[in-house]
Amino acid sequence: MIRFSLKCDQNHAFDMWFADSATYETLVGAGHVACPECGSNDVEKGIMAPNVAAKSGGEAMGPREIMRKISEYRATVMAETKDVGKAFPEQARDMHEGLIEHTPIRGEATPEDVKALHEEGVPIMPLPPEPPKEN
Ligand SMILES: [Zn+2]
Repeated sequence: MIRFSLKCDQNHAFDMWFADSATYETLVGAGHVACPECGSNDVEKGIMAPNVAAKSGGEAMGPREIMRKISEYRATVMAETKDVGKAFPEQARDMHEGLIEHTPIRGEATPEDVKALHEEGVPIMPLPPEPPKEN
């Protein structure tokens, strides 16, 4: 099922469900879709609501889901990297230059360090902050 946001020639907006987009075309083409407000058969697709568009490829992600993904991502990074603390900028740079073996590390970097590393082309990624826990 697909939900379309429709509007009639009087500019009334309404939503309707169709089996698929071909069914929509057929029903509208045959004048079987009427505006619930004025009964006009002259309807066309309005702007699709964002949540409807997202649902065609799966469930839309709500804020909770996004928070959960961030938490998972953090947990994965924590599990797969070694915390080198303040040595991070130096180690990241040494790895980039091939001075030491490449291993996944995480650690602290000042904004100046981050800027310098980016300018040197050292691949680093910020870790998103832990989302607030649900009560
Ligand atoms: Zn209408």
